[in-house]
Amino acid sequence: MAIAEDETTSDQTTSDQTTTETHTRTCPLCEAMCGLRITVEAGQQVKLIRANQDDVWSKGYLCPKGTTLGHMHHDPDRLTMPMIRTGDSWREATWPEAFAECERLIRGVVETHGKEAFTAYIGNPTVHNYSLSRYVGAFTGMSGISPIYSAGTVDQWPKNVSSALLYGNPWVIPTPDLDRTDMLVIMGANPQASQGSLLAAADVLGRCDAIRERGGTVVVVDPRRTGTVDHADEWLPIRPGTDAALLLAVINVFAADELIDLGRMAEFVDGVDVVVAAAADFTPEAVAETCAIPADRIRRLAHQLAEAPTSVVYGRIGTCNQEFGSLASWLVDVVNMLTGNFDRPGGLMFSSPMTEPLAHLPRPSQNGPDGRAAFGRWTSRVRGAPEVLGQVPVSCMAEEIDTPGEGQLHGLITIAGNPVLSAPESARLAQALPMLDCMISIDNWLNETTKHAHVILPGQGHLEQSHCDEMIWSWAIRNAAKWSPALFPPPDDHPREWEVLLTVAGLFMGAAADEIDTALLDDLFFGGVVGTVVAEPTSPIHGRDQAEIVAATPGRGPDRLADFSIRRGVHGDHYGANPDGWTLARLQEHPDGVDLGPLESRLPELLQTPDGRIDIAPAYLLADLPRLRARLGRSEDGLVLVSRRHLRSNNSWMHNIKVLVKGKDRCTLMIHPDDAEAAGVTAGAKARVSSESGEVEIPVEVTDEMMPGVVSLPHGWGHDVEGTRLSVAREHAGVNSNLLAPGHLVDPLSGNAIVNGIPVEVTPAG
Ligand code: SF4
Repeated sequence: MAIAEDETTSDQTTSDQTTTETHTRTCPLCEAMCGLRITVEAGQQVKLIRANQDDVWSKGYLCPKGTTLGHMHHDPDRLTMPMIRTGDSWREATWPEAFAECERLIRGVVETHGKEAFTAYIGNPTVHNYSLSRYVGAFTGMSGISPIYSAGTVDQWPKNVSSALLYGNPWVIPTPDLDRTDMLVIMGANPQASQGSLLAAADVLGRCDAIRERGGTVVVVDPRRTGTVDHADEWLPIRPGTDAALLLAVINVFAADELIDLGRMAEFVDGVDVVVAAAADFTPEAVAETCAIPADRIRRLAHQLAEAPTSVVYGRIGTCNQEFGSLASWLVDVVNMLTGNFDRPGGLMFSSPMTEPLAHLPRPSQNGPDGRAAFGRWTSRVRGAPEVLGQVPVSCMAEEIDTPGEGQLHGLITIAGNPVLSAPESARLAQALPMLDCMISIDNWLNETTKHAHVILPGQGHLEQSHCDEMIWSWAIRNAAKWSPALFPPPDDHPREWEVLLTVAGLFMGAAADEIDTALLDDLFFGGVVGTVVAEPTSPIHGRDQAEIVAATPGRGPDRLADFSIRRGVHGDHYGANPDGWTLARLQEHPDGVDLGPLESRLPELLQTPDGRIDIAPAYLLADLPRLRARLGRSEDGLVLVSRRHLRSNNSWMHNIKVLVKGKDRCTLMIHPDDAEAAGVTAGAKARVSSESGEVEIPVEVTDEMMPGVVSLPHGWGHDVEGTRLSVAREHAGVNSNLLAPGHLVDPLSGNAIVNGIPVEVTPAG
């Protein structure tokens, strides 16, 4: 058996019967960006996926999901041809047929109701898809569809609000410097299941262990004793939705005990006195009962954070998807600033990636005339929800479809999303989607949402396209970069996802399907991007000739954009001005990735606020404090529901992989023994869980992992829906937790859904 290496990416083994090659790639499924070694037999069958020990970023780390990319690629349910629906029947179609049908459907709605009768929904997998993520902006811009909905308002919108206000850009988000901190407080996140989120790192639990091994401390603040707690010194159970009160009490102690020291941040932070005054009545004693954390423990937490050589508070999904998501997201950053652990090693920091999408771009379009983030520039038609950063809550989508009248939605484009399972008010959405006159889904599966589409346009599988996590490197804990070429070529006649997006955009521009020139549209888009960057005064290529830059960036599609992103970035070659800088071609010579070193201070360079300073006390956020004060006086005797995710699950989109869903049923109601006894439910039996919006019946798991008063369901399940093509998921259906999420429950500042802290009743089923 001979083993040979090709130039960059593979080992090759040949026997008499088969040829086996091993290729180096990066897992695209989450922010860990693990390096993979993928063994392929006969050039087409994935045989084995292991960790790449030589990967400069993940250093041999891998989770069970990453090993199943081959299963996903070879899933017989994955769509590889466009699908057209007539009634309840689906048929495969050619691409020209499918685009012609899209043209007919789009034209019908536009001619009758106007383009404003269309909307689009952007799903979470888009972020992890190189082609879609780079071109979804081109699609929305060229198509003129507005507004759009996204999974963002069931995820991180509060953090975007906080960053827009503090740093002038919703996507300038700091990340915890895990490898150099002496104290880590994890709030509302579970790296054991999900690794990082808005935190790019592989093996987050190993890094927690390392903090403790070097004498540091790790504390987990969460209503559930998650697997992450096994790698921490302490679990602080907290009542869902009260993180902001806890953080204000910590600030209260900082002020009372004279622990505030901003360090170098004092040079460009305003409003500390205002924050201290706002926290004056949030004493530890005032919040202790509400948060379910003793006052003396809050006081000690404040001292630990302020007195550790370095410390960092990291808050994620549980601090966002809740009643006070924007306040909590803001206060996480504020606490780190007040201890001086911001933009310095060991604290919250900003990365400086090779593929840098954020710096040197114009201020966000959402900003008002004074240059600051603006909110509420328009409201939704039915409930009057104010827009926030260009979007309203995703739960508005159902009512905008099913409520007749001027402005009613008649058309929908979904892009890699399954809102029937992932969005609140999901039962209403499932009933509303069949009312649409045109629904086109760009998706690889016929799932609970896309079953309502008139046309499904499948994209490539993850292994059929090149990959670069451009956005995700923006919150990486080290400066680094990787790029993966496609492992398998897609069928010749299969347009790339970016071409599909541009074609559908072209239909909205009024072109006939058979006349659309995606190369021309791509050139228009790319030229526009280049023109914007060379006009930006802070860009390293400011003032350069647009045509010269375009001509010097060969190729097409996302690879051309990645090359441009690298070359114009802080590490780039600046198109000849920095001859030692990076290009995509140079990055491609490093299949195991490139490490550019630890994070370095980036402020005030990154700030996009009008005055180049940070107002730590934005009025928009302060105005919500009376609502939080009122929460302190509210007693809650009943149970509240929180969400959870398992290591082998990734929202709704990996439940059709048998090796991930087999074994013990993971879609259970977790409930504390005392609450189970009070509710009369027992382990293994089914309970009925009901909220104001619906009810589900689900097996009970009695466990002291849950704090008393809080129960938990996993999200992304509920695959027992007729008309899908998810043969494995249907056998492991579970229940849809979003049937219990009322659409009107949102954090008012961000419009983000509240799926952590839903009042529910639990009773024995049947
Ligand atoms: S942690 Fe798992 S899912 Fe995430 S990148 Fe690594 S292998 Fe992929």
